[in-house]
Amino acid sequence: MSDTSTNPRPPALEFEEGRRVVIETIRPLVRQLKTELVALEEAYGRILAESIRAERDYPALARSLRDGYAVRAADVPGTLAVRGEVRAGDEEQPPIAAGEALEIMTGAPVPAGADAVVMVEHVTRVDGRVKIDQTTEAGHFINQRGAEAVSGTELVPARTRLDASHIATLAAIGQISVPVFVRPRVAILATGDEIVALNQQPAPYQIRNSNSYMLAALVRAGGAEATILPVARDTRDDLLPLLKEGLSHNLLIVTGGVSAGKYDLVKPALRELGVAFLFEKVRIQPGQPTAFGMANGKPVFGLPGNPGSSLVTYHLFARPALELLAGARDVILALLSARFEAPFRHKGGLTRFLPARLSDDGQHLRHISWQGSSDIPALAKANCFLVADHDRESWAVGDSIRVMLKA
Ligand code: AMP
Ligand code: MG
Repeated sequence: MSDTSTNPRPPALEFEEGRRVVIETIRPLVRQLKTELVALEEAYGRILAESIRAERDYPALARSLRDGYAVRAADVPGTLAVRGEVRAGDEEQPPIAAGEALEIMTGAPVPAGADAVVMVEHVTRVDGRVKIDQTTEAGHFINQRGAEAVSGTELVPARTRLDASHIATLAAIGQISVPVFVRPRVAILATGDEIVALNQQPAPYQIRNSNSYMLAALVRAGGAEATILPVARDTRDDLLPLLKEGLSHNLLIVTGGVSAGKYDLVKPALRELGVAFLFEKVRIQPGQPTAFGMANGKPVFGLPGNPGSSLVTYHLFARPALELLAGARDVILALLSARFEAPFRHKGGLTRFLPARLSDDGQHLRHISWQGSSDIPALAKANCFLVADHDRESWAVGDSIRVMLKA
């Protein structure tokens, strides 16, 4: 049976299409994730497993939005008798009558009878009275009971990655332990005869395994557990057991050995283990030979070995897979736009992700010269990648270009 006649090699994809393939393949598989409870202080960045609802009205009573005077809107302009004061933290005061005002502080309960607050800056105090020259209208500077959320309303949906505003929400409703999804387990396997472990001194023709540590850092930052497997030699016999071990995790990321070279044996070995590839080539540089496959519902990425390629392709393809497996609903590739500070050219045909520096105001961009995707020092100088479209070759000073932030 000939593989190539019945199952032609999938075509090379643009990076947006590749991402879509990853997301559409993995999203339907994400069900029945395990959950656990974590303390609120540990919940930042975790993915919420159950929706969070308001346990009472927000606000729980009408509150003043300003320091000033609670009045009946119909009584002003006019001079009103000041019946006393109410501070934030005070109980609700008795209703005010016609011709009365209550001095009120921001956050304090608005008394019944009052339907507006006039700012302290807009009144004149004379003895026990307050003179108001302006008109106001009912509801002005009052945060009505339930205006933000009525009791039972969903405040944070399940599958949300908890940011600081969600932590504030959970704290506001008194939720000190938070149901989140258990972190996915990700295996990272570096391959290559020239790659040595960090506790070894590399000969001049060898290099240290930087990819595994870079990727483990990204995986952990994305909310997953990372296991670094021992480096695999470029032989079938060395690769098979390590790939098999990798496939016992929720996600496997392999680096190196996925190009067209004689010793690029990762894909054949993965096929032997039952992996079907959905794509094996993306029209980008670095990262063209990126491969994405599935083995029994388990995603596998084969990322090209140069650190620049691994970094870019992790962000583009492996990261959304990891985020979905972590339970997240949103997988966003956030691209900014900035203007070149100097003219820039590239050879079209492929979309290029090149190291660059974005200015403090996020508006201006400088290209960083690099020797290609093995150039770790250039990556370390960059704070972003510029995204040079495949169908454009030159940019003048001030022309805008898309930018992908680097983590
Ligand atoms: P490959 O994708 O196997 O053709 O690898 C391309 C190049 O990436 C190699 O020549 C190495 O210079 C580099 N490389 C591969 N694996 C790693 C790794 N784990 N850490 C750092 N560099 C690597
Ligand atoms: Mg190699």
